[in-house]
Amino acid sequence: MAAGAAALTALIVLALALFSPRTDTSSLSPPQFADATAPPGAVSGVVTATVETEPVPHPSDAADDVAIWVHPTDPSLSTVLGTDKLDGGGLGVYDLAGQQLFFYFDGNLNNVDVRYNFPLGDARVSLVAVTNRADPPSLIFYRVNVNDRSLSKAGEVLLVASGVEEPRGLALYHSAVSGEYYAFVTDFGTNIVYQFELDGASGSVTARIVRSFDPGTMSEGLVADDGLARLYVSEEDVGIWRYGAEPGEGDTRALVDGVISEGGHLTPSIKGTALYYRSDGEGYLIAASEGAGNFLVYDRVENSFLGNFEIRAGNGVDNVNGQDGIDVMNLPLGDGFTRGMFVTQDHVNTDAGNGNSGNQNYKYVPWQAIANDFDPPLTIDALFDRRTIGAPGAP
Ligand code: CA
Ligand code: CA
Ligand code: CA
Repeated sequence: MAAGAAALTALIVLALALFSPRTDTSSLSPPQFADATAPPGAVSGVVTATVETEPVPHPSDAADDVAIWVHPTDPSLSTVLGTDKLDGGGLGVYDLAGQQLFFYFDGNLNNVDVRYNFPLGDARVSLVAVTNRADPPSLIFYRVNVNDRSLSKAGEVLLVASGVEEPRGLALYHSAVSGEYYAFVTDFGTNIVYQFELDGASGSVTARIVRSFDPGTMSEGLVADDGLARLYVSEEDVGIWRYGAEPGEGDTRALVDGVISEGGHLTPSIKGTALYYRSDGEGYLIAASEGAGNFLVYDRVENSFLGNFEIRAGNGVDNVNGQDGIDVMNLPLGDGFTRGMFVTQDHVNTDAGNGNSGNQNYKYVPWQAIANDFDPPLTIDALFDRRTIGAPGAP
């Protein structure tokens, strides 16, 4: 038993020595991904969450994806939207203390995203979109009611006629080129990625397919960069692909990073991605590497690999592993997140001291904890305001 434990410890030490980017890598084989080479100083960071949400309604693998909504006048009233994808599931609205404000039992809601200034009838609203993998599958849209932070249905688009069998991944995109809003959706049934153009003119959101392409194998995680007109697709067992986000872009793509066995940094399954925007046009792409229980950080523009971090137990909140959807926000949100926040799904919710355990939930990490764990530190940008994207008069 003791010998086994010693051997295991030795193996872990060896693994750490082999895979830590701090190790001198000159004796290892050269990476096959030129874009993904870790620069000197890239770290394997360890951070702790400070807040976890109330558990989602259903046991087992129910929680899936998150999106941060920023309140227009009082950032401390911002919310986190999180899904429960099982039968009878839906979408929860959580405050910055992790308390559930509302829960909408509207279907097997899988992935969620937010954009601001969406034209809905005569109004400009915060638009929330979710994939519903129930039978029949659909896209469900909500608007955020700023007065009490609740959601109201703003349309549902049935997908059967579009050939979408099981919608899972979802990313909203606002085009600075056309001013249009789009939803990208991945289909677990066919592995196809669809781009829908959204129209809220009638007061209820409608959607029509303007593009589709086939990444190859199972894909879910999606995020769109509104500033650089890019779409990132996580092909779960292969890598993260970068496509153009405009509807005329076709299926031209570049590999951002691949799996470790192919010379990259990712450990399947490759899940959610999120973008940290900076006011200088730079920022970070973050990806959930589910198999390793860690998060990889890339330069937003060049997509070069900067390092990774994991979330261990601390502050009464349990560690994160087997994670799925993520989101990140640079804006100061107040109440413990004055320098922004990172949010992730967690596969197993145990009690690490604060009494919160049971069904899966979502963990919040102050952005500065992550930023300052890198060497050199990642930037903390309090200025770039996502709420300006799509605003009247803005590009
Ligand atoms: Ca998922
Ligand atoms: Ca956990
Ligand atoms: Ca917990």
